[in-house]
Amino acid sequence: MLVPAAKPKIAVSACLMGAEVRYNGGHKASRLCSRILTDYFDFVPVCPEVAIGLGIPREPIRLVGDPNQPEAVGTVDRQLNVTRLLAEYGQQMAAELGDICGYIFMQRSPSCGMERVKVYHANGAPQDSGGQGIYARAFCALHPDLPVEEDGRLNDPVLRENFLTRVFAYSAWQHLLKEGLSRRGLTDFHSRYKYLLMAHNPVQYKILGNLLGNMGHTDPRELGPRYFSELMAALKKCATRRTHTNVLQHLSGYLKQAISAEDKQEVQHVIGQYRHGIVPLVVPLTLLKHHFRQHPDPYIAQQVYLQPHPENLSLRNTI
Ligand code: SF4
Repeated sequence: MLVPAAKPKIAVSACLMGAEVRYNGGHKASRLCSRILTDYFDFVPVCPEVAIGLGIPREPIRLVGDPNQPEAVGTVDRQLNVTRLLAEYGQQMAAELGDICGYIFMQRSPSCGMERVKVYHANGAPQDSGGQGIYARAFCALHPDLPVEEDGRLNDPVLRENFLTRVFAYSAWQHLLKEGLSRRGLTDFHSRYKYLLMAHNPVQYKILGNLLGNMGHTDPRELGPRYFSELMAALKKCATRRTHTNVLQHLSGYLKQAISAEDKQEVQHVIGQYRHGIVPLVVPLTLLKHHFRQHPDPYIAQQVYLQPHPENLSLRNTI
């Protein structure tokens, strides 16, 4: 995959980039965000608590009340309530950051946490169910298709690969929108995502194919956003060894007439090793790519599945 001249933009909780913006003047630098991914993305650091004027250092805040609709209040001064300010800032940033392709949030934060943030009763006792950070919730409500993830969850190789796959898909869609959405553009886009979609969500793969197949005279600018929302929802489902194996088998089918019986046997052997967890996904893919270099197929060459993110990120070496 070629990395476009302009790197895709990802918004990030500023403390994850090493900025000393936490309530205690510290940071939560994430190696992934502040080192590994910086070659591939332009990060836009945002600290909502500092932005609304809470200062550094500051009294910590926490979520209190109904876990579905909590309030962000001071842990010392219970009169301090910044719920409205944080929510409004979330809406403001959602409007300002229209060109980002993803957002990495700091987990467990009453402002930035995406899920399972501790919520307390008014008397200070912790509740069983968790909530969502006020800023993150307001932001995400206005960007329902945007790939979002918490830094902690990105330690999981499958979730990391899934998130970055979606970020690059989002970026590709933004490019398509800039060119202007045409019937041809939409079907070509879907065609390139065919095998990726099949790996993530075989059911949605068929549904989305039918959606475009029955496009008729519908204006592609009308259908496009619906298609894209469904595509992003489908890609959110993580591909498994079973679904990847299915796609690898489909891909190997394109080599049926081109390679020798020994080579076919080797391909099947390596796909089997992947299915049984003996080798990571990169192994059968490298072998298939080798054969496709010798025996190019224009339809396969355009498939995003072969390289949905830059090779040097090595995201498929660990899944
Ligand atoms: S979690 Fe969010 S609000 Fe808290 S320090 Fe980090 S960026 Fe700021």
